[in-house]
Amino acid sequence: MLGLMQDQPLLISSIIRHAARHHASGEVVSKTVEGDIHRTNYAEIEHRARRLAGALARLGIAAGDRVATLAWNGYRHLELYYAVSGTGAICHTINPRLSAEDIGYIVNHAQDAVIFADTTFAPLLAGVAPAIRGSVRAIVFMTARAHMPDIATPEGMDVLCYEDLMDAAEPIAAWPLLDERAAASLCYTSGTTGRPKGVLYSHRSTLLHALASNLKDVFGLGAADRFLPVVPMFHVNAWGSPYSAPMAGASLIMPGRHLDGASLADMMNAERVTCSAGVPTVWLGLLQHLRASGKRLDGVQRLIIGGSACPPMLMRAFGDEYGVRVDHAWGMTEMSPIGTYNMPKSSNADLPADAAFRLREKQGRVMYGVDMRIVDDGGAELSWDGTTSGHLQVRGPNVCSAYLGDEPGSALDAEGWFATGDVATIDGEGYMEITDRSKDVVKSGGEWISTVQLENIAVGHPDVAEAAVIAARHPKWDERPLLIVVARQGCTIDPSALRAYFDGKVAKWWQPDDVVVVDELPHTATGKIQKMALRDKFRDHLAGGS
Ligand code: ADP
Repeated sequence: MLGLMQDQPLLISSIIRHAARHHASGEVVSKTVEGDIHRTNYAEIEHRARRLAGALARLGIAAGDRVATLAWNGYRHLELYYAVSGTGAICHTINPRLSAEDIGYIVNHAQDAVIFADTTFAPLLAGVAPAIRGSVRAIVFMTARAHMPDIATPEGMDVLCYEDLMDAAEPIAAWPLLDERAAASLCYTSGTTGRPKGVLYSHRSTLLHALASNLKDVFGLGAADRFLPVVPMFHVNAWGSPYSAPMAGASLIMPGRHLDGASLADMMNAERVTCSAGVPTVWLGLLQHLRASGKRLDGVQRLIIGGSACPPMLMRAFGDEYGVRVDHAWGMTEMSPIGTYNMPKSSNADLPADAAFRLREKQGRVMYGVDMRIVDDGGAELSWDGTTSGHLQVRGPNVCSAYLGDEPGSALDAEGWFATGDVATIDGEGYMEITDRSKDVVKSGGEWISTVQLENIAVGHPDVAEAAVIAARHPKWDERPLLIVVARQGCTIDPSALRAYFDGKVAKWWQPDDVVVVDELPHTATGKIQKMALRDKFRDHLAGGS
């Protein structure tokens, strides 16, 4: 027997319709590429998104077509999120920090028909245009006529102006009814190894992710919040916040391309931001700026950190010096992306302060809709004792089942689990802690050493700005940890003193065999340290033994 409740598909358009009707005055504040502050609200965004939907139809965009964006966080990007997906087309957000070659590859792989771009990216597009002429028939600059850049494109690839298209279009009267399983947006993984791979989200997965990721023990945004996503809309849909914030009626404060500590602090204070989310590098920049300038954060209650392990020092510094709570989250593009979030349970209430802090360092508990387990090399499930580490696997309706172009289900094992590529422990209460990437872990004499843990200790040293630990080949132990560091400005690092800094903090056999000081570390397009490049360079550093 079927239930007798209203059969409404879970569609992305329902979010902006809800926000426009019930949170019409919820603000969307953007720092534009031109440098001024633009203010609008959810009612206007929904209206303009329907007008943009009309413009897309005039451009010949039909359901299932791929429409790409190459843009910072801003109101026009938000309009595109809703107009493209809302009409059944697929919003493909491109990470502009990828190499021009990778961008050319993913545009062709996705078969993008049109690219909407901020004017910042005109030179980048001029460079890749010849490589993408096969699929792209127009580039639309997200600006008004007065700011249109002058770029040359191959024949058959038009250069258009966003506001001109808007002026010429009629808003669609209503959002169409779609299959909730239809593809809605597309995001390529950063591809630290091999080519980027496309993760294709559906309306249903996006809705379920927005609902679950906004539960109280996860993002927990409400209508009184003013949320600033530092995490870009071109990187896993800004962790879903362009959906979860309007769903909750929270205002969105969009920083554009200004992501340095000073710009963020100014915008947070001027716009009364209550909560923000980003990768550790961003918060290190903010912390350095606050310390150097003596400024405070007026209304910020929470900073959400994910994308890489949160250095405990960041959590302490923001908490102790600025009264701002730092929450640790973990996820990946293939998970929409939120997997876990760290909030205490009532059973943790009586923990002594040190143990409570230690617990908060972990990546946290799964949100509803995600299941996880750890397995050994042979695929056997390992115990949740907080110390045994294994390969982390996940499953759920927000987890990808195959990459774009591959056979359905091809990213899963026989039981439907997706291998995250992370190595983790899970404790008896379900708190997960990432100890490494499967390919980064150091296997010393058959035992695993967590590079993440060693890096966290290294960045706690006052002279260290950034640190990476890699597995270096070793004649006796197969692999041993090698620490590679960048010194803080004005500091000099004494390698043997830095090695001694690990005394008492980890077991003796975990301590790095050597320390190499470099001027800078290589980073991926999403700001993570490129360990592969470091391994290529330093793999044989210990080959003579130590
Ligand atoms: P994200 O947007 O979360 O950075 P990616 O798909 O680019 O998504 O990268 C996912 C990977 O990033 C994870 O598999 C994990 O290795 C790493 N990662 C994400 N969050 C954390 C975290 N809090 N701690 C440690 N590693 C993390």
